Amino acid sequence: MISTKSQSSYKGLDNSLNNRGSYWITTFGCQMNKADSERMAGILQEMGYQEADNELNADLVLYNTCTIRDNAEQKVYSYLGRQVLRKKTTPNLKLIVAGCVAQQEGESLLRRVPELDLVMGPQHANRLETLLSQVDNGQQVIATEEHQILEDLTTARRDSEICGWVNIIYGCNERCTYCVVPSVRGKEQSRKPLSIKKEIEDLAKKGFKEITLLGQNIDAYGRDLPGISASGRRENTLTDLLYYIHDIPGIERIRFATSHPRYFTNRLIEACATLPKICEHFHIPFQSGNNEVLKRMSRGYTIEKYKRIIYQIRTLIPEASVSSDVIVAFPGETEAQFKNTLDVVKEIGFDQVNTAAYSPRPNTPSATWSNQIPEEIKVARLRELNLLVETTAKERNSRYLNKVEEVLAEKLNPKDSNQLMGRTRTNRLTFFQKQSARDYSYKPGDLVKVRINQIRPFSLTGLPIE
Ligand code: SF4
Repeated sequence: MISTKSQSSYKGLDNSLNNRGSYWITTFGCQMNKADSERMAGILQEMGYQEADNELNADLVLYNTCTIRDNAEQKVYSYLGRQVLRKKTTPNLKLIVAGCVAQQEGESLLRRVPELDLVMGPQHANRLETLLSQVDNGQQVIATEEHQILEDLTTARRDSEICGWVNIIYGCNERCTYCVVPSVRGKEQSRKPLSIKKEIEDLAKKGFKEITLLGQNIDAYGRDLPGISASGRRENTLTDLLYYIHDIPGIERIRFATSHPRYFTNRLIEACATLPKICEHFHIPFQSGNNEVLKRMSRGYTIEKYKRIIYQIRTLIPEASVSSDVIVAFPGETEAQFKNTLDVVKEIGFDQVNTAAYSPRPNTPSATWSNQIPEEIKVARLRELNLLVETTAKERNSRYLNKVEEVLAEKLNPKDSNQLMGRTRTNRLTFFQKQSARDYSYKPGDLVKVRINQIRPFSLTGLPIE
């Protein structure tokens, strides 16, 4: 969950003339939601809203929600509770729920929270101004119908001035039996390569140094775009896009997430090994180490195929870091099948693994299955996995000790203003003194050579070298 308070927002957007009041956006969930919130904030600012300094002072409050697990969904209701109380004394307060809970609940959310003014699904993020004009005409609005996502012309209000999220494909056509994303984000919609390139060129002109291409299943990019080559190969793939945007001046680093093992290609790995700006980090969820469980998840690959991908990456890019996502206690998962997952984590040695216990979600096949795992077993397996993940990550991080890494300084360390924080090309969070031995002062946006002198499971510390 991120409560947005940005430094960059007001540059170039003088709205003192049509001051519509203040807004506050709270974002739950994934990077796709963060990118949507940045665009919605941009729309509000262009409409004349200014960012509030506190959620409880804002004239318009927007919760951009997540429903990937039950606890994520429940969070928004506690936040809404205090705004509903405010609305009793501040009747002009505009209350908006956006994102995946809005899409999942739609009309029933209005029945549950009748004080809401607008309930809008993720596909409608770019239509916020239109929807708000209906609210300003006194309507209570629900926007959850399937919708062709329009190219967004507004200036996103980005949280960083160094690193930018760039959506390249919305939605997902897969049918993983535990996942709510297809039912709340809809079918795949790829953006045109030229629109993506223009957005990145615009970011480069504004001084951004790094971009992350985003998609729920990024390897599916372009499947819905025309273009088959003479050899019958699909053009407009993620790999083609990386070549197409690689040489944009000013951008130093390119990242992408989230990959899908079913569609991950050697051609993509070769491109990443060849193109200097593509960072040596891959985020490829494997979810379970057991083929029977993967089958019931409808993931569409075997663990052997997954290992071959990692082997190929480490053959062509030995220094690469690999992170993943894992779900434990999927319905019917036996102790032995869980052990298979632990074995894969040990064998591959991930730099980071995002872990979760299975959470039955509405409109997903596995939620209705009878072989649900009891809560205490879920908790025990998650604890055991998290311990292993931490141990493995620390072992992996030991390879950086006394090594010099290039770190892109992103911002001051909020806990120590003598330090900057940023990430290595392998996506390791790194803290370092902003003052060098010769009193040179580094700043956000600088690419700094840092000698690592301290390692932790999920971050590094070091000293800048001239
Ligand atoms: S690939 Fe599967 S897990 Fe990922 S968003 Fe699509 S349906 Fe969900």
